Amino acid sequence: MRHISVFGATGSIGESTFDLIRHQGGAAVFHTVALTGGRNVGRLARMARELRAEIAVTAHEDCLPALRNELAGSGIEAAAGAGALLEAADRPADWVMSAIVGAAGLAPGFRALRHGGTLALANKESLVTAGPLLLAEAAQHGARILPVDSEHSAIFQALVGEDIASVERIVLTASGGALRDWPLERLARATPADALTHPNWSMGQRITIDSASMFNKALEMIETREYFGVAPERVEVIIHPESIIHSMVGYRDGAVMAHLGAADMRHAIGYALNWPIRDGLPVARLDFAALGRLTFRAPEEARYPALRLAREVMALRGLAGAAFNAAKEIALDHFIGGGIGFADMAGVVEDTLAALSRDDGFGKAPVALDEVLDMDGAARRAAGEAVRALAARRAG
Ligand code: NDP
Ligand code: MG
Repeated sequence: MRHISVFGATGSIGESTFDLIRHQGGAAVFHTVALTGGRNVGRLARMARELRAEIAVTAHEDCLPALRNELAGSGIEAAAGAGALLEAADRPADWVMSAIVGAAGLAPGFRALRHGGTLALANKESLVTAGPLLLAEAAQHGARILPVDSEHSAIFQALVGEDIASVERIVLTASGGALRDWPLERLARATPADALTHPNWSMGQRITIDSASMFNKALEMIETREYFGVAPERVEVIIHPESIIHSMVGYRDGAVMAHLGAADMRHAIGYALNWPIRDGLPVARLDFAALGRLTFRAPEEARYPALRLAREVMALRGLAGAAFNAAKEIALDHFIGGGIGFADMAGVVEDTLAALSRDDGFGKAPVALDEVLDMDGAARRAAGEAVRALAARRAG
């Protein structure tokens, strides 16, 4: 029986993963080691009961009594907190889904690599903040990282049987997000509710807003650079409003391999779950005649400053990815909280990078995870300062 764990089981990716596990036979086919979640302990407990998990872990200590209560009589262990997440990752599993949102997903996924199994990586922040360390850890333990981000799964699939040395370009497709057709001058007044109406994909709240700002695509450019090891100038972004092509790989003979499918994360999750077999998946099939046409347009610099910042981060490397991601998370918190506007997020990130890059160590490659986590903390503080400075400028 395959032993599996799902980190971030109660989220959007977690739910889709659960759906596929159930579709493929659930507890009769998989032995579930650990399921983790956050505040939604009711859902976590129901999943754990259905899959007969060994342990359910909530990230929040204050949620532990409720989780214990929900699991009463089931024989399933309950635990809480960041330490418990790492202990859950210490339990051997053949296949681990890393789908916690944000930098909080880095340490548990990193830890799970020690077992030498497969890490299905939805948590793109892991590669953005600590790409070289993560890949080195995987290599050291003979673990395999399979990308779950739809673009990176598409690229991975378009590379099967090919030599990475013959790749000329990687083209990431982007829907353009909820505000892609808004007049530029209106962007400053966009609310979180406006940014949350994604045209094609149903995802978690944070990544949906990041799609509207294209901070998500910015993270994905860095993720591409780190995971596939290609030079930054080979990574391109194109807006493809229909979200049918999930990304493309262009080769030196001019040929382009594209991956197409319905906008359903179960494609990429299922590919990683069944790899190297391509098994049946319960996803919609494309009807090309009904689609009629696929369209493309270049992303406007002024609408999506996050893409320019990603290029700066890719050039710098070192701790820049960790700073970029943490600053983005803080800016997003403040936008969701109503403290700053939609168009202010990029400025907060840019100011944070400018403040931190004065330090000599910024461009140096980290040799331990702690350095990444320290930079994450420093960038959160610097981004908080940048938000306060912005508020002061506005007030004054
Ligand atoms: P969600 O917000 O839907 O879910 C996040 C999960 O992480 C939930 O289980 C949540 O628990 C848990 N969680 C939240 N905060 C913490 C924390 N501090 N520590 C531990 N666990 C926590 O996110 P998504 O599923 O949308 O995204 C997950 C990851 O996958 C992200 O890295 C995202 O970028 C990536 N991704 C997502 C895609 C999508 O389609 N959604 C597509 C491609 C990549 P609870 O809800 O119980 O509080
Ligand atoms: Mg994606």
